Amino acid sequence: MADPGRTGDECGQCGLCCKVFGDRITPTVMNLYSWHEQGRKDILCHFSACLENGTRINAADLEPGQMGDIVVVELRDPVTGALPPVCPFLRRVERTRYICSIHAVKPDMCCNYMPWIYGETYFPRCSVLRDREKRSPWSGLSSQDP
Ligand code: SF4
Ligand code: SF4
Repeated sequence: MADPGRTGDECGQCGLCCKVFGDRITPTVMNLYSWHEQGRKDILCHFSACLENGTRINAADLEPGQMGDIVVVELRDPVTGALPPVCPFLRRVERTRYICSIHAVKPDMCCNYMPWIYGETYFPRCSVLRDREKRSPWSGLSSQDP
């Protein structure tokens, strides 16, 4: 989810980007280290790490010395091991308002997410992006306009 105020754009907290992409979030090894140092097993336990030797381990059970051997980290249900349908950290706080329950320590990829930037993270369903496009001086022009 975008970070309200960080770029001057106000995230509407509709939660849509987290619902659509949140099942694929991947923390960096530094995110894992940081959560480990902060004792955030409540976050770590939602991730499964695949190591160079082919073993798979719940991230909450990783030793710091194993973090350099991580090949892939992915979200997994801590009880069933299944891929979750949606990010487990997304919380609905009002009928149409959602927050990230780990906002202060969320993965780098979520901190850097900007749906209004053309490219990989561009998300045309984002209301911030739609409002931006409405304010754009080009918004009324069709492809026929000179
Ligand atoms: S960790 Fe937070 S910001 Fe990232 S997808 Fe989940 S709810 Fe959204
Ligand atoms: S889709 Fe846009 S408005 Fe909705 S939570 Fe994501 S960044 Fe915020």
